Amino acid sequence: MFTLWSKNVGDPCDAAWPEDYNKDVDDPVEWCKEMLEHFNSTLRRHERPRQFVRVEIKRNNKLLRHEWHKTNLVTLIKGRDVYDTYQCERCGMTAKRFGVGAITPDSKRDWGKSCKGANR
Ligand SMILES: [Zn+2]
Repeated sequence: MFTLWSKNVGDPCDAAWPEDYNKDVDDPVEWCKEMLEHFNSTLRRHERPRQFVRVEIKRNNKLLRHEWHKTNLVTLIKGRDVYDTYQCERCGMTAKRFGVGAITPDSKRDWGKSCKGANR
């Protein structure tokens, strides 16, 4: 798994956009450069040539997102708090979401951590 960041030739680097590739290649950087070269050599009239910016390699577990599913049927109300409870289907972590905010793990230690995967 890797993400290719590329941009249109002539655009500034912060105009780059990501594309995820689920490919098992030896050298993602080389693969992406060749792919862009091929793209640029086969441009259609409305297409602009693209330029390689960088590749981000995903270390599988590290960027795994929690698979949250709601565990309450009806939104819970406690005092002034209105929230839903969630549990990750993979690692079992529990979390809450207040109103329309972000899903926040119950344990502060888990804040910002990605999913560790199945805990079985
Ligand atoms: Zn998880």
